[in-house]
Amino acid sequence: MITIKNYINGELVDPANGNYLDNYNPADETVYSLIPNSSEEDLERTILSAKKAFPAWSQLSIDKRSRYLIKVADLIEANLDKLAEAESLDNGKPVSLARKVDIPRAAANFRFFASAIVNESTQAHIMEGVAINYTRRAPLGVVACISPWNLPLYLLTWKIAPALATGNCVIAKPSEVTPYTAFLLSELFIEAGIPAGVLNIIHGKGAEIGQKLVEHKEIKAISFTGGTSTGRIIGTEAAKQFKKVSLELGGKNPVLIFDDCDLEKAVETTVKSSFTNQGEICLCGSRIFIQEAIYEDFRSRFVEKVKNLRVGDPKTEVDLGPLVSEAHLRKVEMYVNEAIAQGGKVLTGGGRLGQAGYFFEPTVIEGLDEYCVINQEEVFGPVVTLVPFKEEQDAVKKANATVYGLAAVIWSQDVQRAHRVAHQIESGIVWVNCWMLRDLRTPFGGMKESGVGREGGSDALHFFTETQNVCIKL
Ligand code: NDP
Repeated sequence: MITIKNYINGELVDPANGNYLDNYNPADETVYSLIPNSSEEDLERTILSAKKAFPAWSQLSIDKRSRYLIKVADLIEANLDKLAEAESLDNGKPVSLARKVDIPRAAANFRFFASAIVNESTQAHIMEGVAINYTRRAPLGVVACISPWNLPLYLLTWKIAPALATGNCVIAKPSEVTPYTAFLLSELFIEAGIPAGVLNIIHGKGAEIGQKLVEHKEIKAISFTGGTSTGRIIGTEAAKQFKKVSLELGGKNPVLIFDDCDLEKAVETTVKSSFTNQGEICLCGSRIFIQEAIYEDFRSRFVEKVKNLRVGDPKTEVDLGPLVSEAHLRKVEMYVNEAIAQGGKVLTGGGRLGQAGYFFEPTVIEGLDEYCVINQEEVFGPVVTLVPFKEEQDAVKKANATVYGLAAVIWSQDVQRAHRVAHQIESGIVWVNCWMLRDLRTPFGGMKESGVGREGGSDALHFFTETQNVCIKL
């Protein structure tokens, strides 16, 4: 049994109340680790530790801060296998995926912001012969980074790296469902010799210790990734105290397949954009709209490939592992049953797999319009719907028919059409003839109920700093 500890003031410590929560292996439903069920006493200790570390960390030269972050990136890379296995054990994703995507990206997050901070410049506005204005960006102080269970280390580091690079001290709260790699990261921070208190990681229940963290008056900004309903609670709390807040929330992403696309590539990539990480990526496309002329052709090729996906023990060479938890499995099952009750036809999949573990078949459903429950609400699992459309405007209307606006994919060989449609789609990210191609310099985030603000590149550096204009009379 692994006992996960909080990381406070540079040390791995037990929760003050001695209470732990069970953590499950989703592949076999056994409890394999214990997580601190932290209380306000632990939170106060993290706040004190971060406040104490802030003056020295924020005044350290950019070069030194950058070097520290590079050390962390190096250590993540050196521990690739261990971290990938831990991520898979905790979340259920195939080890091969964690090794290829999650862990390298966690290292890349630190490396990217270590470099971004040394390359960042500022603006000057010159009033000829009168005055010079320059823009200064100062760290905020102690900030909170709250991350979800689907890409645990990847998303946690996506927040921590820019916050630390800009000179803030961080209190991070990983999901109680997937705390393991955050714990291993605290060990790497100790090994890298990062000064005590610069990063603190507190484990426990989101609705309890997470909420207290958000409400704490010493927290100057909150960077949150998670569900839209939690985002609404956090946004409301932040507004009461005028805290800066960045919300990366849910999605119901459309994939538009036009009849002039490269069908083979569209089918192949859409299988990935539907089912990678068991469909538990906020960027996965879950509503696939296909132009009428190629609907049947796309459907038969797509369903055939989906039937060939391998679901099973994430330690072996599979395409999908189990879903993250029993509660999530039940939620996915509920949505599929609801879709069937509303008249949906299951083309493949549709149910649980195996005797133990939270396995669910990759599922394709057709016969429902864009307004039915499964095309409106986020399932966040291996379930997609196929819906035909007539022409461009019909595709745009259907794509925009939800409260969400995170990501969209367009498949077409007509460049003019791709631009035209992209500009009408209400989503923060649009991919044309590709999916999840990421440049860390680009703004990342959603429109409508998919979020507020943007992460990535200079947006993240600006979020974690306060802007000040200094005007000097000549
Ligand atoms: P949740 O909103 O349930 O939780 C996200 C994080 O917030 C967890 O660490 C959780 O802790 C914590 N939390 C829960 N309640 C509170 C609260 N009241 N105050 C402070 N913190 C709280 O999301 P999930 O973990 O279920 O993640 C899935 C969701 O995340 C999906 O909707 C998905 O679309 C979205 N997501 C969005 C992304 C984006 O970039 N837009 C990327 C990835 C996921 P605990 O787990 O302990 O409850």
